[in-house]
Amino acid sequence: MDDYVKLKKSLRNMQILVVIVIGLVVFSFAIDFLVVQKTVTTIEENLQTKPLKTSYVVQNLKGDAMETWYAWQPRDKIEIKIVGENNYPTDKIDAIKRAILSTETIEIDNNLVFKGDEGTSTYWIGWKGAVDHIREKRGIEKPLDISFTDKDEADIIITLTNSKSGEGLSGITNSLVNDEAQTILRSFITIYESDKLSNEHMEIIIRHEFGHVAGLAHATAPEDLMYPVIQTPAPYISECDVDALLHLYTGGKTSQVICES
Ligand SMILES: [Zn+2]
Repeated sequence: MDDYVKLKKSLRNMQILVVIVIGLVVFSFAIDFLVVQKTVTTIEENLQTKPLKTSYVVQNLKGDAMETWYAWQPRDKIEIKIVGENNYPTDKIDAIKRAILSTETIEIDNNLVFKGDEGTSTYWIGWKGAVDHIREKRGIEKPLDISFTDKDEADIIITLTNSKSGEGLSGITNSLVNDEAQTILRSFITIYESDKLSNEHMEIIIRHEFGHVAGLAHATAPEDLMYPVIQTPAPYISECDVDALLHLYTGGKTSQVICES
């Protein structure tokens, strides 16, 4: 009888333990979901109050504006210089670096982006992660070596300025290309009113401009990062952006970002 009571008691303890464990697992999933949802909602609210307007220009060595696609020549290393870095707080510069160097991905509920669509989609936070993913798909094992430098001859120059753009732009990318070889030689990003941009907006605008640096044109879909006016609740590198870049670097001969959803 004693043994029976003991057994019953330990079974009950086990049941309580199982319920607690299940509860904790469900709770942690719920917290995770809420955090992502809250981030996305906050970003959406911020972007609605101040949409980020962008532009990009592609010029050949003679200074003519070009209208077609261009891509970087195969390379394993790319260097970036930030001009004006010392005039801004470290966390603002870290936001720029995160948009470029992060290899993290984020899962976002489709309902938040394309209303009425079930499931989730993967987004990349930084271009390093997206590019390495593309390289892997192309069978290139070596990850891209992206680094920040003080050298004036860096491949990519990001200029931070407090001055206002005449056209009301937050950012612009100007790429210098060799029109015969159809290659990008160097890219110049300018971020206007850098002192007024929140770290979050700085990160988003750099993420968008870096898409142009990589060779992408604007997206036709308003819910994409590469839409000319950034207004998406998911301002991250989408699978659509990754597909467009993979297409461009595998002989696709187009820089268009066409998203089907
Ligand atoms: Zn743009």
